[in-house]
Amino acid sequence: MTSIAQRLQQIRKDINDAERDGSRQLGSVRLLAVSKTKPSADIAAAYRAGQRHFGENYLQEALKKQQELGAYDITWHFIGPIQSNKTKPLAMHFDWVHSVDSFKIARRLSEQRPTHLPPLNICLQVNISDEDSKSGIDLAELPELCAQVADLPNLKLRGVMAIPAPQQDFDLQRQPYRALCLAVAKLNRPELDTFSFGMTGDLKAAILEGSTIVRIGTALFGERNYY
Ligand SMILES: *Cc1c(COP(=O)(O)O)cnc(C)c1O
Repeated sequence: MTSIAQRLQQIRKDINDAERDGSRQLGSVRLLAVSKTKPSADIAAAYRAGQRHFGENYLQEALKKQQELGAYDITWHFIGPIQSNKTKPLAMHFDWVHSVDSFKIARRLSEQRPTHLPPLNICLQVNISDEDSKSGIDLAELPELCAQVADLPNLKLRGVMAIPAPQQDFDLQRQPYRALCLAVAKLNRPELDTFSFGMTGDLKAAILEGSTIVRIGTALFGERNYY
């Protein structure tokens, strides 16, 4: 069996190869290790191999692991669906939230962010191709929501996140990311430096289209057996 450390090394190599193929600066794409459904021991194994950024989808599960791993210097990203009555623990216990898709959620996160902490890093989740998904705003709503969220005091709007419908075809994988990057370029907001694009199945397509954070679960921790 391959260890988490070995898989991590392979993923880092895949990221570097894609950066090269896409004429991207080496090191410009960050790996976010998506640890949902996986035990704290797996996170610790990746940590020992140098990984520092971890992504979780379920609040209760994430809070439990944060407790167990309190001694570790981990940057925690929340990437799952957000219920508006659960924003307070998100504002208190995470460094990043990728899945903001309404002004109401953003305003609550800003209000509930403890002021002794740095501003919460935020990405707006955009629904670019998956018509069945209930998460994410339409591309047409992006300019207005960006303008509203950028004014909130305790948030730092960093960019966009997307989960396109899965595609086998490489060119089809690239298309939605390209469209979203073009839309962000038109916003003319140079402070938006984050494109949270790409999972195990489309890492290379995402990096060729400008991803700055790839969110990788299966390739690192193996298949998930529940959720
Ligand atoms: C589960 C999940 C991932 C990781 O997906 P893999 O295909 O296992 O790499 C990435 N992003 C989000 C939002 C997820 O929920």
